[in-house]
Amino acid sequence: MAAPKVAVVGAGVIGLSTALCIAETCPSCSVTVLSDQFSPNTTSDVAAGMLIPHTYPGTPIHVQKQWFKETFTYLFAISNSAEASEAGIHLVSGWQVFKNTPKEELPFWSDVVLGFRPMSEAELQKFPQHRFGQAFTTLKCDCPPYLLWLEKRLKATGVQMYTRKVADLWELHSEYNVVVNCAGIGAHQLVGDEKLFPVRGQVLKVHAPWVKNFIRDGGGLTYIYPGIHRVTLGGTREKESWSLTPDPGTTKDIFDRCCSLEPSLRGAQDVKVKVGLRPSRRSVRLQREVLSRGGVKFPVVHNYGHGAGGFSVHRGTAKEAARLVGECIATLQGSSSRAKL
Ligand code: FAD
Repeated sequence: MAAPKVAVVGAGVIGLSTALCIAETCPSCSVTVLSDQFSPNTTSDVAAGMLIPHTYPGTPIHVQKQWFKETFTYLFAISNSAEASEAGIHLVSGWQVFKNTPKEELPFWSDVVLGFRPMSEAELQKFPQHRFGQAFTTLKCDCPPYLLWLEKRLKATGVQMYTRKVADLWELHSEYNVVVNCAGIGAHQLVGDEKLFPVRGQVLKVHAPWVKNFIRDGGGLTYIYPGIHRVTLGGTREKESWSLTPDPGTTKDIFDRCCSLEPSLRGAQDVKVKVGLRPSRRSVRLQREVLSRGGVKFPVVHNYGHGAGGFSVHRGTAKEAARLVGECIATLQGSSSRAKL
């Protein structure tokens, strides 16, 4: 079999990182990214990009922890290299605060982030409405820089990237040996996945360079995440809403909630409002499938449905998707050598 041709559909954080992992693990493969939108027009560009995992109820915790750990380790190495500023990857310390002590005082990811500990009474004085808190240091991916850095890495490894809307994965079967579906919320239409639904998120990106620590209300609805150039203020979680139009009432509500956690934000300037649709599912769809029409078979690897936590686990799920692509290629090579006998 000649160099296997692999198409990756989608150019958000999942598609780009999956294409990179495939190119790294299968140097003989010819990898192409096909997407109707690239940065800065993806959901991934709206995200804060904080590495604080979201929990997927349909996925075993040890698997989620493994994905998070692989992602943290990968980004920690970038943050500790000369590439850090171009890639938009940096360490950030701060607090997750709760009005009441949570049932789970030690989340499953507490030994992956750095220096996780309960907040002291003195620290809690900053948050008079909260009674419990956790302090830790984690990583943040700033977007667009991280997506542009991934695109640059892909080009350097010879990966092709084309703007193309794919209406049906089958349309790729005559051009490619394997297709990887990283279409995010687009998979709802592309593969008719009824288990995938949008969770709308509205955020503000503001200029407030004096804010250096992250603050997250334990429920995860209100958060302040400082990036290299702008601070992301959030947020909302609106299940089944497909609207990408910012709502001015919501903007005021987010700003007020964030100012009650960090009053200095009243001086923030240049407020930009963004909306994104989290591709949500009970579990990430990370599996092989073989499409078959008229006796012709076409292997597909799905990697979508990362909901509110795509940045936190992207490298771990990309590695697993690349492993599944390797299995598809081994099967194809096995059948082509049997056909020659
Ligand atoms: P996307 O970024 O949407 O990429 C999908 C790609 O597929 C796009 O390029 C699209 O154009 C392409 N596509 C779709 N359909 C087709 C088609 N038919 N043909 C061709 N191309 C197609 N996660 C975290 O871990 N930490 C955070 O702090 C965080 N904050 C967030 C804040 C908000 C407000 C939101 C909305 C999300 C946040 N997330 C966060 C979640 C994170 O953004 C997502 O999990 C992640 O971006 C999903 O990435 P993706 O590549 O699957 O999807």
